[in-house]
Amino acid sequence: MSAEPFVPEKKTLPVLREAVQGCRGCDLYRNATQAVFGEGARHAEVLFVGEQPGDKEDLAGKPFVGPAGQLLDKALGGAGIDRKQTYVTNAVKHFKWQPRGKRRIHQKPSWSETLACRPWLEAELEVVRPRIVVCLGATAAQSLLGRDFRVTQHRGELLESDLAEHVTATVHPSSILRQQDEQLRQAEFAAFVDDLRVVARLLDARAARR
Ligand code: SF4
Repeated sequence: MSAEPFVPEKKTLPVLREAVQGCRGCDLYRNATQAVFGEGARHAEVLFVGEQPGDKEDLAGKPFVGPAGQLLDKALGGAGIDRKQTYVTNAVKHFKWQPRGKRRIHQKPSWSETLACRPWLEAELEVVRPRIVVCLGATAAQSLLGRDFRVTQHRGELLESDLAEHVTATVHPSSILRQQDEQLRQAEFAAFVDDLRVVARLLDARAARR
């Protein structure tokens, strides 16, 4: 299983975005409405990688437009990061779900599905060439940093990686939404914003050097 044969030689964001719709690199395309490619500035300074599109993203064809995306926007605002400076995408481009009544419930992509989809993420990194890569949650972090990587142990740290000048990882905003206790949810949101402030400081330092 691999998306590799479906990734075009000529890599531009519009070409990739069109080509991903024909990907059959794993079985996830079968039950999804469409592939959801990344979106954002062509040469964004920061590239965020989430797990996979959710129900709303699958229908809209756009990443991070559902509740988790709204929470990400709020956290970016809290950290002082302009979303226009960013590119957002997912490690896996098709929505994996199972039915529960009339609802489509998110299912975590398997390791083999995540690996199969990685060529699309690599192509996005090659075109956007961000200075900072932020992995949101375990699926993204393990796809890019290795299967043994633990977000809980290394969140908010600047990590050694040849993916970009700076690489860091934090939780996925949907994990904050899943928290039932209001106080804990607020504490987790504050910790998420703190992790994003690491990115904001890097952007500020760069702007000050210009
Ligand atoms: S999830 Fe990725 S590898 Fe699988 S079919 Fe979709 S785009 Fe291709």
